[in-house]
Amino acid sequence: MQEIVDFIQKTFKTKEFIPLHEPRFFGNEKKYLNECIDSTFVSSVGKFVDTFEREFAKKVGSKYAVATVNGTAALHIALLLADVKQGDEVITQPLTFIATCNAISYIGAKPVFVDVDLDTMGLSPIALESFLKANCEIKDKKCINKTTGKIIKACVPMHTFGHSCHIEQIKNICDAWHVELVEDAAESLGSYYKNKHTGTFGRLGAFSFNGNKIITSGGGGVIVTDDEVLAKKAKHLTTTAKVPHAYEFVHDMIGYNYRMPNLNAALLVAQLEQLDGFLENKRELACGYAEFFSKMDDIKFIEEPNNAKSNYWLQAILLEDKNKRDIFLEFANKNGVMSRPIWRLMNELEMFEACQCADVTNAKFLEERVVNIPSSVRLG
Ligand SMILES: *Cc1c(COP(=O)(O)O)cnc(C)c1O
Repeated sequence: MQEIVDFIQKTFKTKEFIPLHEPRFFGNEKKYLNECIDSTFVSSVGKFVDTFEREFAKKVGSKYAVATVNGTAALHIALLLADVKQGDEVITQPLTFIATCNAISYIGAKPVFVDVDLDTMGLSPIALESFLKANCEIKDKKCINKTTGKIIKACVPMHTFGHSCHIEQIKNICDAWHVELVEDAAESLGSYYKNKHTGTFGRLGAFSFNGNKIITSGGGGVIVTDDEVLAKKAKHLTTTAKVPHAYEFVHDMIGYNYRMPNLNAALLVAQLEQLDGFLENKRELACGYAEFFSKMDDIKFIEEPNNAKSNYWLQAILLEDKNKRDIFLEFANKNGVMSRPIWRLMNELEMFEACQCADVTNAKFLEERVVNIPSSVRLG
């Protein structure tokens, strides 16, 4: 145990407290923020929002990007655009951050939990297909859950810690079952599956720029799509559904105040310029961890899955069992090396206890064993 702490301290060149993930501001952050303040455009309109949307779309290879106030808001709007309505059901994984299930719940829809794969920690295409075959039927091009009588409108896989799930297979299954694929790519900017960027496999994807993500705008998110109509609707819905007019206030539906302020976009444009360097730095860190942990037979460093290129956003290890995990967490945190367990399973939280849940053996296995270790971009 001590040798792990020593290795991480050596890796980060400090004996002081080592956080799990710190943001880094090495680039044009202050310059753009100053420009923003000098121009007085700090709020809902401004050139940095437009610049960010253009540059982000280019980066991930989607036609359009619409910036939002945070990643949860991006997911919420993406689900509305996927036509998810009150009373519908949405398939997702039990092993995810709460935001995925919150966004589904804001609409009055219910999550249905399907297991993850052990190699990706993301939604399993095999589990997805067997759930659909056992529980669902297609009627009038709709996927009906025979157990509840509800429509399964969408499926939201998540690319856990930046490792792509088997998204191509998931996409094919969703298409065959008339279920809209909406990717929660909040953690996977810079991650690819077979050279295609995560978040761009379905018609809609969502990313987050919260303070702990690979790049940050303080708080922020983005919706990506190749569909011009959806992009326009996303912009409209996230900006209070205001009808363009020189001076009058006309709104044609109940919209949301979900836009990203120009101030946050200024920070984000500067961050995006540094993404490639961050990715390289994190990959180096991952290589170091992989080599170090390869010498231990009771701890496994989690590497990128086959066919995937990971951003290695949060680096993770797998311990032998829950008891060993707890001993590790206790020791590392006490010795100034921040580490934390993966999320509690969503199906076990009080709000989602009543939701339909398939066999989630893999998710449970990972929940008891996975620990995140310091993953920040290193200085110098
Ligand atoms: C960070 C994150 C989100 C979005 O979070 P915000 O804090 O609202 O930006 C959504 N899903 C997952 C899996 C996340 O990790």
